[in-house]
Amino acid sequence: MKNRKIIISRDKKIALVAHDNKKRDLLEWAKFNRDLLAHHKLFATGTTGEKLEHELDLEINKLQSGPLGGDQQIGAKIVSNEIDFLIFFWDPLEPLPHDPDVKALLRMAVVWNIPIACNRASADFMISSALMDREYNRLVPDYDEYLTRKVG
Ligand code: PGA
Repeated sequence: MKNRKIIISRDKKIALVAHDNKKRDLLEWAKFNRDLLAHHKLFATGTTGEKLEHELDLEINKLQSGPLGGDQQIGAKIVSNEIDFLIFFWDPLEPLPHDPDVKALLRMAVVWNIPIACNRASADFMISSALMDREYNRLVPDYDEYLTRKVG
């Protein structure tokens, strides 16, 4: 399959999501990196967003709470190129009612080749990358071939 390029601009569209047992981690991380995050457009699931807004004093585009559909809203925004960077501290030790949504969100991030950090170390490496301050050509398979496949 051929690739096409989708630009991640210098000012990125970043989604931040943390499960309850990981919220403290994300809040600490975001607070430490507040100034680096400030010029990007920030999105979050409901409860994560409330806490981040309070902690960072930055505007956060808050979606629905994760278990009520927020993860799916973020996935949909990845598909429509309204989000191009994901910090997702999911909980590996607790079964959650919205496990299928979590998996779906991770899958969309891979399908659309957006950077994802699922733990603090990855988030540290990502936020300190030289690419954070530049435009980046994100290569995405040219799904036109798939869309025009022969069916039936
Ligand atoms: P929350 O959702 O930010 O509303 O807690 C996160 C999640 O469980 O996906």
